[in-house]
Amino acid sequence: VPEFELIERIRARVGARPDVILGIGDDGALLRAPAGQALVAAMDALVSGVHFPADTPPADIGWKALAVNLSDLAAMGAEPAWALLSLTLPEEDGDWLDAFLDGFMRLADAHRLALVGGDTTRGPLALCVQVLGFVPPGAALRRQGARPGDRLWVTGTLGDAAAGLARWGTVALDDPLVARLLRPTPRIEAGLALRGQAHAAIDVSDGLLADLGHLCTASGVGAELVAARLPASAALAGYPTDQRLAWQLGGGDDYELLFALPEGVDAGELLPPGLDATAIGRIIGEPGVHVLDGEGHQLAVARAGYQHFGAADG
Ligand code: ADP
Ligand code: MG
Repeated sequence: VPEFELIERIRARVGARPDVILGIGDDGALLRAPAGQALVAAMDALVSGVHFPADTPPADIGWKALAVNLSDLAAMGAEPAWALLSLTLPEEDGDWLDAFLDGFMRLADAHRLALVGGDTTRGPLALCVQVLGFVPPGAALRRQGARPGDRLWVTGTLGDAAAGLARWGTVALDDPLVARLLRPTPRIEAGLALRGQAHAAIDVSDGLLADLGHLCTASGVGAELVAARLPASAALAGYPTDQRLAWQLGGGDDYELLFALPEGVDAGELLPPGLDATAIGRIIGEPGVHVLDGEGHQLAVARAGYQHFGAADG
């Protein structure tokens, strides 16, 4: 399949939006940003064998490539609008592309997001997605802004994706933990609901400790987590506590939202129905992140999150 036909297959499936003046087909897209709103831009690249196992089904790669980007918009409290897609494919394989688009477009359509452009090149399998969304200036959720005394909350459950990766190749793809690795759910509606409420927010992509560390650094504060409060799915609950905690604290790929609310505000009353959030700790004035056991003693925690360059001694 020649390159122009691959692009044509993509163009045939992009969502329509009235604010797309000109989409795929010219040298650039023409987009109409709503008056009075800030444009939020985020980009994440996924490399085969690094960000997903090389034998991941293409539809799941398509879903995940967009999901990890939408998760960044969620963490900013932004409403998704447009995406650009850079595809590097080892061969011009139309079947692979169709399957990839099945996953990508399913998530795009669910959020009324339009794919407005991109680039297609040949090389080792890699994807780069840019997403654009809107937020009223001032209402954006930031990593900075958490204050001592705030409660820390997290949506959904933690550790499933890390457990799924550990099980990769030994269980079927519909294993509930593997499914969470392949198809993370970006918490867009939660991000919108937290506008004007959360003092700070971040999405959990590198692991809870690492991302909480980023939030604390940006806010100039520290945090205490209560190990027993970390929300676990039924599928994860059967693992020994140490193993479960390691995945929940240091794993990654959760794509849940971690946020700070003033004490006394119940996240459950802010978030859309059907999405749970759990209070997992609090913000303290002194820098550093601590994990407490049931008696309030600090647990020794080995390692904080995945880093691409250099070793962490977190
Ligand atoms: P140019 O040489 O001007 O970059 P291309 O042939 O790369 O043109 O792209 C032609 C059109 O197709 C452009 O509008 C571009 O945005 C779009 N396009 C190319 N690849 C992709 C892709 N993977 N996803 C979405 N749009 C794409
Ligand atoms: Mg190009």
